[in-house]
Amino acid sequence: MPVFLLTNDDGYFSEGIKALREELKSLGRVITVAPDRNLSGVGHSLTFSQPLRIRRIDEDFWTVIGGTPADCVHFGYYLFLDGKKPDLVCSGINEGPNLGEDITYSGTVSGTMEGRILGIPSVAFSAFGREDIDFRELAKTAKEVVLKVLDTGMPEDTYLNVNIPNLPRDQIKGFMLTRQGRRAYREKVLKLSDPSGRPLYWITAEEFGWHLEEGTDYWAVYHGYVSITPLQLDLTNYRALEWFRERL
Ligand code: MN
Repeated sequence: MPVFLLTNDDGYFSEGIKALREELKSLGRVITVAPDRNLSGVGHSLTFSQPLRIRRIDEDFWTVIGGTPADCVHFGYYLFLDGKKPDLVCSGINEGPNLGEDITYSGTVSGTMEGRILGIPSVAFSAFGREDIDFRELAKTAKEVVLKVLDTGMPEDTYLNVNIPNLPRDQIKGFMLTRQGRRAYREKVLKLSDPSGRPLYWITAEEFGWHLEEGTDYWAVYHGYVSITPLQLDLTNYRALEWFRERL
């Protein structure tokens, strides 16, 4: 019976993690450790500056008060699994996509990055959709990916970023291996003011979109496929390494 360590960045109360937990429970034991609040965009932050409290929600289900997804994976592994590796770390299902450069901000993807650092195969799941997400339907598709991955295994230094279109299963065209795409929007800063007239600032997206290049994560979900992008911890730019070797 496989053992899963599950986290997310939307908080333990989110529909996405509940739906994925239910599907994973039909396959094996699921240790769930998730933040107590929505920490979307927190990235790979690990809390070193203060101690943290953990609260039990249910059987094999905990929340870390103020903890990030990376903290949650850490506690799941060291506290609740006693340092015994689960078969798979799963993260999500995130409410909203994690495509292109946005994965560098993603707490969802960072949860799986932490799993990989601990030497565990890991998969992040996100919903390509913003409204009326049918997480139960998406969790069934996520389960199919989990079953495939449990069967194939995963190369060293690899974790997967999976984005699932918000569609009924029979309308999903299939599973596509993709590369990380590029987004086409920029952040901008809104200047607001508080009731006393002092300035407030809010980072927001100027317009929403990605470059629709064939073979990318965005291309796949845009065309109704589940996008599966293999990622790695090694961030070395090997082409640039050669480029600099010829010049430096
Ligand atoms: Mn999120």
